[in-house]
Amino acid sequence: MKTIKVRNQNKEIAVGKMICVGRNYADHAKELGNEVPDKPVVFIKPASAIIYSGEKIIHPKFSNNLHHEVELVLLIGKTIKEADEKLSEESIAGYGLGLDMTLRDLQNEAKSKGDPWTLAKCFDTSAVLSDFVSKQNYTLSLNEEISLEVNGKIRQREKLNMMLFKPVQIVEYISSLMTIEEGDLIFTGTPAGVGKVAAGDKLHARLDGIAELDCEVA
Ligand code: ZN
Repeated sequence: MKTIKVRNQNKEIAVGKMICVGRNYADHAKELGNEVPDKPVVFIKPASAIIYSGEKIIHPKFSNNLHHEVELVLLIGKTIKEADEKLSEESIAGYGLGLDMTLRDLQNEAKSKGDPWTLAKCFDTSAVLSDFVSKQNYTLSLNEEISLEVNGKIRQREKLNMMLFKPVQIVEYISSLMTIEEGDLIFTGTPAGVGKVAAGDKLHARLDGIAELDCEVA
């Protein structure tokens, strides 16, 4: 079972499913040649894909194009279904930083065939997580900057307020489609600047006021 830690709370929370949205920053949608969507693109990652800051991302042998995607991650603290805006806001228990590692070659092949993105998104070590801050201890302003460096060079840097769909809207939308349970995590999409990493590369991600994380590709 995979868990996450909430800072200043003496407990570990078991992670359920991880629900991810794609194309949530206009500049990133454009860099991959996608339309800016009128509703979020949604996919799932299994909890078995989780590793933590300080651990190694294992480059799968079946891909030649492993990409980083740095993202704000929401921790859900309450099981909801068909929630309104108020309940959606209440269901968010905390915030963390995550990497949605993606096999871009497999994703492009899946897109062209109309196949699911599962093989591109669900491989072991494809979800790197920081520890989390609780909403009691931190108020998200969306003025926070999220960034990612590879070997000390900046690759992604953006303000959270550039998200097309804000956290509450994302939760409300997903809850209209499926039950979101306590312990589920929601990846909120990545800004522009995604790119390839290779064995030996060192990744450092940062989300102002919330978390930092480090990992290396093996
Ligand atoms: Zn992503």
